[in-house]
Amino acid sequence: MARPAARRNRHLVAASAAAVALFATTTGCVAMATEDPGSSAGPSSIGNGNGNGKGRGDGEAGRSPGAASPGAATPPARVSAEITHDSEDQGKTVNLTIDDGPEPGWTVKVLDLLKKYDAKATFCIIGSRAQEYPGLVKKVAEAGHRLCDHSVDHNTSMDKRAESYQEQQVLDAQKAIEKAAGPGARVLYYRAPGGAFTPYSREVAASHGMRPLGWNVDTHDWQNPGTDRIVETVKKGMKEGPTVLFHDGGGNRGQTVAALERLLPWFKEQGYKFSYPKI
Ligand SMILES: [Zn+2]
Repeated sequence: MARPAARRNRHLVAASAAAVALFATTTGCVAMATEDPGSSAGPSSIGNGNGNGKGRGDGEAGRSPGAASPGAATPPARVSAEITHDSEDQGKTVNLTIDDGPEPGWTVKVLDLLKKYDAKATFCIIGSRAQEYPGLVKKVAEAGHRLCDHSVDHNTSMDKRAESYQEQQVLDAQKAIEKAAGPGARVLYYRAPGGAFTPYSREVAASHGMRPLGWNVDTHDWQNPGTDRIVETVKKGMKEGPTVLFHDGGGNRGQTVAALERLLPWFKEQGYKFSYPKI
């Protein structure tokens, strides 16, 4: 698929809708890199993230964020529409987030590494890819990782499109991912492609039980900057916050896999706990 190189708004601010919009207009030039291959837009984006996105509940209190729930017939409870970056665990934590898959070859390699180091991650899955490779989505879910909706088509300009389109992109992807993952699986987060959130799409996601998900550390792994560079970006970036962005799709992810092979033991040595984004 076409993946334009232009990207901006790496800093996703988890703030009010107004603040997000404002931030986007004022920080669009801060960095050309956003989260994914193809990022070309994003009214919001991520920021230093620390302290942002703290879920204030909005009624989700008491909701169990377990990956697969036997009670799939029950509609998911509404969650906060603010973008989350924090961990649900206290202390020194890391939230690994893996975007743009599943992709044959790479997704399984990432899963194998996570298993080897007893690490957990959140996979932001593209809906059309879930339809194409349901078996890989099932493997992700069965390994106990969390699922995140990354839209149907990864249109990084979806924030410029009609609300009906945004809704379709969010909700059809949720259905495709849950269908592929198997009975009881739930998608707990929504991450807009390229950070192209809108207040409306965040609201749609939140009202269907998916917490908008940002990131703190962008590894730029989709650009293949070299394994050393990816590793250093993460080591230096962890002071920005716990949520780290990697990719298992969008091209050759050999550098991502090699970087994870070095970073996963490093996290353990440094005393990080593998956690999940706070819902
Ligand atoms: Zn993406």
